[in-house]
Amino acid sequence: MLRKPVARIDVLALKHNLARVREVAAGCKVLAVLKANAYGHGMLKVAEQLQQADAFGVARLDEALALRAGGIVKPIVLLEGFFDADELPQIVASNLQVVVHQQEQIDAILAAELDAPIRVWLKMDTGMHRLGLPPEHYQAAYQALSQSPNCVPGIRLMSHFACADDLECPDTTEQLQRFSRWSQGLSGEISLANSAAVLGWPQSHGSWVRPGLMLYGVSPLLGKQGDEHGLQPVMTLRSRVIAVRDVAAGETVGYGSAWQAQQATRLAVVAIGYGDGYPRNVPNGTPVLMQGRRFPIVGRVSMDMLTVDIGDAIIKPGEQVVLWGQGLPVEEIAALVGTIPYELLCNITPRVDFVYEGGD
Ligand SMILES: *Cc1c(COP(=O)(O)O)cnc(C)c1O
Repeated sequence: MLRKPVARIDVLALKHNLARVREVAAGCKVLAVLKANAYGHGMLKVAEQLQQADAFGVARLDEALALRAGGIVKPIVLLEGFFDADELPQIVASNLQVVVHQQEQIDAILAAELDAPIRVWLKMDTGMHRLGLPPEHYQAAYQALSQSPNCVPGIRLMSHFACADDLECPDTTEQLQRFSRWSQGLSGEISLANSAAVLGWPQSHGSWVRPGLMLYGVSPLLGKQGDEHGLQPVMTLRSRVIAVRDVAAGETVGYGSAWQAQQATRLAVVAIGYGDGYPRNVPNGTPVLMQGRRFPIVGRVSMDMLTVDIGDAIIKPGEQVVLWGQGLPVEEIAALVGTIPYELLCNITPRVDFVYEGGD
């Protein structure tokens, strides 16, 4: 029995979550977002199992090329587009689609000599102020690209929300209004919604939704968990107990002697640490799951290990420990650490083994 961390990927849950997207955003096409190694779940494996998606989205060219090299033939959209005209031949050769969000890209497309036209998703900055054309330049950009033989006819219209995770925030409505005002009269399929907007802002669904996080079974909405939306966690991160030991009242545990036993305490030492991507800054008391029960982490998380107060439970070396996933939502751990579940999932390091269960 390997006493090391394993990320179990539940492929049936992944497919269930995609079906859930289709239920919530009925009639929409689904661009499944696979950037950052499919949020830490393994990009190629996830792509192979999401045959029901209409297209895939990645941030960068190397991610898209890795999918193509792995035999993925579905449409792939580069969500950050391209940065230099010399990437265009590769984009054409690999049949990739691009988000166009700044004037330099438009100039490059108009000036290029290409073997085949490229499918463009034209992005408007409606308030995120990260990528996207200023709204007042949008119509002109659309006209210029529509007239270019280098663009596949039917430019897609897109934008991205800053605060869709907060259902109380008025910014999303403002962004929606800005989008419809400045794209008025333009024909083309519309794509605005990330996971939070898929779940929280049905009026934003348009023709294409772009879910990432919710495919992995995790809630993007503040204070919510995936099961509240009918989602199932895809990754269960687990490891094993490698030692059980007693400490006396007054003894301290771990680096910095950061935790002191108030009474005689039995501890389990678990083979996972920040070197595997488990966050170092979890507070004392953060739960792990053993035998279906919660036990609190005590002391600092180190690179390869952490320590858990097991009370009077009968736990032996080799016992399985769940750090997050089924039975222990990653949303909860993220909240305890003061971050978002996206970060925890992406931070899993290559030292962790991946096991795919339930796939084709
Ligand atoms: C990452 C990303 C998404 C997916 O966001 P989630 O919050 O994970 O659903 C959608 N659209 C764009 C442009 C993105 O960069």
